[in-house]
Amino acid sequence: MDSHQTTYGIIGYPVKHSLSPLMHNTAFAELGVDATYKLFPLKEEDLKNFFENLRKESNFIFGLNVTVPYKEKVIPYLDSLAPLAQRVGAVNTIVRTKDRKLVGYNTDAPGFLAHLAELKFNLKDKRITILGAGGSARALIAALCLIPERPQSIRIYNRTSSKIGDLLKDIASRVDTSIVEPVMSVDDLNIELADLLINTTSLGLKEGDPCLIDEHLLHSNILVYDLIYNPRETPLLKMAKATGAQTANGLGMLYYQGILSLQHWAGIQVQEEVKNKMRAVLEEVTND
Ligand code: NDP
Repeated sequence: MDSHQTTYGIIGYPVKHSLSPLMHNTAFAELGVDATYKLFPLKEEDLKNFFENLRKESNFIFGLNVTVPYKEKVIPYLDSLAPLAQRVGAVNTIVRTKDRKLVGYNTDAPGFLAHLAELKFNLKDKRITILGAGGSARALIAALCLIPERPQSIRIYNRTSSKIGDLLKDIASRVDTSIVEPVMSVDDLNIELADLLINTTSLGLKEGDPCLIDEHLLHSNILVYDLIYNPRETPLLKMAKATGAQTANGLGMLYYQGILSLQHWAGIQVQEEVKNKMRAVLEEVTND
């Protein structure tokens, strides 16, 4: 590869399973852009050096995605944050401007909302339940609290209950979280009464992972959304489908956040044909 080639990429650890290179390299090929999207597996002790290099004129990286565990940790290295990233408190997209300033965006939150809109799920006055209180839950909670179509309630459960308190305290310093209620057990989520259940935990990624939810709690009037997209159907989604619930995996969220990242880097709206190709390769590769 030409080291002077315009480069984009994803930083995280680990990153090797990321589908972002496939999605963005497909877009570059479709757009006829001479650019490449690479994986940057980075140890935490290398972050500082990586960001120092990013500011050099000789560096040809013009945009980045950020994944686990750095979505919050990159913030001190940036020059500014877009308002949503500031309110979420996490960055998954970085733009390097012409004058080599680093600007952080969050496209996970609008990516999730865009997928819900595609599923024709209207959030207004809905009762939402969330499993997990990690990085992805942070973006979702902030997004759900900020939208004008405000849900009625958001109940959240996490294996490590203290992490919910820490997360909510942090988000509440920038966002009105009055509709959010942490609970101590899955039973207290009141899934029987909920309109939307979102799994933001990594349970379901590995074969044989248990399910946090009992089948009898699910019903046919709920959308069960699992952020995991590989496997396409986690045990939770299988169980939900069997009870007649509407189900969705996180591939749509991944796709929409990718489109939004690309638009931030390129400063243009991506055409429908390019978007369709990006979605098609994601569907294809997770269909195996
Ligand atoms: P984090 O590591 O920040 O959080 C992981 C969460 O999973 C924590 O709440 C953790 O609980 C919980 N968890 C892990 N193992 C268990 C277990 N054995 N039992 C119960 N809970 C468990 O990860 P992220 O929030 O960034 O990502 C979570 C998932 O979402 C991943 O699978 C990721 O692939 C997916 N994701 C999908 C996206 C998409 O675009 N579709 C975007 C971002 C993430 P605890 O605090 O107790 O450890």
